[in-house]
Amino acid sequence: MNDLAAVSAREDKPEAFDAERVRRDFPILQQQVNGQPLVYLDNAATTQKPECVIEAISDYYRHDNSNVHRGAHTLADRATAAFEGARRKVADFIHAASPEQVIWTRGTTEAINLVASSWGHSELRPGDRILVSAMEHHSNIVPWQIVASHTGARVEAIPVDSSGTLDIQAFEAMLDGKVRMVAIGHVSNALGTVNPVVEIVRMAHAVGARVLVDGAQAVGHWQVDVQSLDCDFYVFSSHKMFGPTGIGVLYGRRELLDAMPPYQGGGEMIESVSFAGTTFNKLPYKFEAGTPDIAGVIGLGAAVDYLKHLDRAGAARHEQALLEYAQKKAQAVPGLRVIGTSGHKVSVLSFVLEGGHPADLGMLLDQQGVAVRTGNHCAQPIMDQFGIPGTVRASFSFYNTFDDVDRLFAALEKARQFLV
Ligand code: PLP
Repeated sequence: MNDLAAVSAREDKPEAFDAERVRRDFPILQQQVNGQPLVYLDNAATTQKPECVIEAISDYYRHDNSNVHRGAHTLADRATAAFEGARRKVADFIHAASPEQVIWTRGTTEAINLVASSWGHSELRPGDRILVSAMEHHSNIVPWQIVASHTGARVEAIPVDSSGTLDIQAFEAMLDGKVRMVAIGHVSNALGTVNPVVEIVRMAHAVGARVLVDGAQAVGHWQVDVQSLDCDFYVFSSHKMFGPTGIGVLYGRRELLDAMPPYQGGGEMIESVSFAGTTFNKLPYKFEAGTPDIAGVIGLGAAVDYLKHLDRAGAARHEQALLEYAQKKAQAVPGLRVIGTSGHKVSVLSFVLEGGHPADLGMLLDQQGVAVRTGNHCAQPIMDQFGIPGTVRASFSFYNTFDDVDRLFAALEKARQFLV
């Protein structure tokens, strides 16, 4: 077999992803909860952190802790180098054209608020329309409602069908010259639906609208390329991609970020300050007032390094296999209804069980060492559409195993007996 044939043979039959080996990188998974080995299926809420991320944060505090950009000493230089190095890593990771287009925020929520407030206040006029999907997380609805109330713009919901799929025809019919912003989740945290972002961007741009993509639930599952998506803004949280909490990213098209006014005032975001008038710093610092979460940024950089060395295509196939296995098992449970059955889904099994309130089920599963999320998942409008107060949500990551899925359904069976 020549080299090329060997490669294509390997691609035809990809080696199985070794979740058991990868799990060993995550110290938190090696514990018992309520007397049982932990089964962590709450990855859509937050992912666990590999040893290298924990080490990077601890190393920073042990050896390099200092404020960034301002110091005239070695520790400040080291901290600044690590901090700006992480920005370059993240820019490279999402294929941004330049690191200056990567703005640090506290997370997805703050990134959306930044755009809604800064871009929205300067761009929106009475009668303008902002479209969000009916399955958005509250953090991609409420900031737009707030800016709409100040500017006279309107927030409208793009319909979602009974399988949890975005109605693309309805979206097309809604588009006109008054639509200024389409704010859309790449993946729904409540249903797992993957939205056709490339198509949405193309359609929105055709009427002159801007597109913000909420990538909170995407970046942990596959490689995102902001330039090929051609979106105007892309936002995500470090803690949903194996990095620390308290740090996230706003990526934006350079000309839009350049034109946007500052979001918050303070140190770092200025060029010069006087009572006669203040001038603002260049990108990305214009949007980074105050001392940033330096350790968080360095931890996020380490998470990016970790993901770069992971077989991401294999991880994605493994997660998909887990989801399909779980969905099959769900079909066999009497009284179980899956919420979100779109043909294009990732990682999330959301369900309700006849006779069991999601919160009670969550507690009964926890008693057996199985961690899931229950409630409306900060997506009340889509829960209302399904006529339910909330669901039980099991969400998978690449370190989950088929055994974890079996444990979930065994625990559910026990919980069911308890309920009747
Ligand atoms: N958007 C989506 C789709 C989410 O799943 C979440 C968190 O669950 C958020 C936004 C908010 O993220 P954060 O709380 O990290 O700001």
